[in-house]
Amino acid sequence: MTFASRLRTLVAAGLCLCAALTGIAEPGPAHAPRSAGNRVTNRKANPRGRVLIVMYHATGPEEKYMVRSRKNFKKDLQRLYDMGYRPITLAEYANSKYDIPPGSSPVVMTFDDSRDSQFQLRKDGSIDPDCMVGMWKEFAKTHADFPVKGTFFMLPNGPFGSKKTGKAKVKALKDWGCELASHTLTHPFLNKLSGDNVKRELAGSIEWLRKFGVEATTVALPYGVPPRDQSVFKGFKWKGQTFRFRAVAFAGAWPARSTADPQCDLYQVPRVEASEKAGGLTVWLDRVQAGKSKPLVVP
Ligand SMILES: [Zn+2]
Repeated sequence: MTFASRLRTLVAAGLCLCAALTGIAEPGPAHAPRSAGNRVTNRKANPRGRVLIVMYHATGPEEKYMVRSRKNFKKDLQRLYDMGYRPITLAEYANSKYDIPPGSSPVVMTFDDSRDSQFQLRKDGSIDPDCMVGMWKEFAKTHADFPVKGTFFMLPNGPFGSKKTGKAKVKALKDWGCELASHTLTHPFLNKLSGDNVKRELAGSIEWLRKFGVEATTVALPYGVPPRDQSVFKGFKWKGQTFRFRAVAFAGAWPARSTADPQCDLYQVPRVEASEKAGGLTVWLDRVQAGKSKPLVVP
């Protein structure tokens, strides 16, 4: 039984499910369900609880603005795991596909700008253990139910800083079940562009990702700034083709609503920055631990 169908039985009939149960299929190959197994926490099912969508940019030896230190990234993985979170993609969230074990809570790990410290290879072609994917891979070796499964908002910058290896990295991410998604073509302030140029940025990004065999269905806004006409994300025509997005990720400072919450708006999905600052990930996990924020818990 999928979580979506469990939700349908749990939530009273007639409620808005954000139209999330129909529509565009999420990208990437099909994966064996991980929903079998022991209950992860003794928390009660909470289909309308909040969903943590975490925003990462880069990693390095020191914690800085937009840089999560390696130490803190490892801490995030362990703490999320210990608190019963399991990873899904943004497209899965948008489609109410919570294929995670009973009693666990979904977390969406998102990575912006396809920066090089997110995914680096060593000279011998192996994954650099100091990049984010490398650290996560290492963690997943001993935590198989927290696999490398995130949403990468891509720019045509290699990607990940290298044209030579970009294609192989995208393929690896796809094979692991990650989502490759749009972050526009040139990372502009969308509010400063004409309607046509907004469409060029969005359509161009989708078409660029198609060269990698990826059909992007979600987008993160550069600088978290939306265009003047936000209806564009629901569908637009460009050069004879129709493009649309299933969800739009903003920057924000609070966990997102469940798609079972009637007030959920998939075109304004907030994210929490991975930081120690107010509104950041550590503070939100403290709030969850203190019972002040109720996460979505799958039945
Ligand atoms: Zn960005």
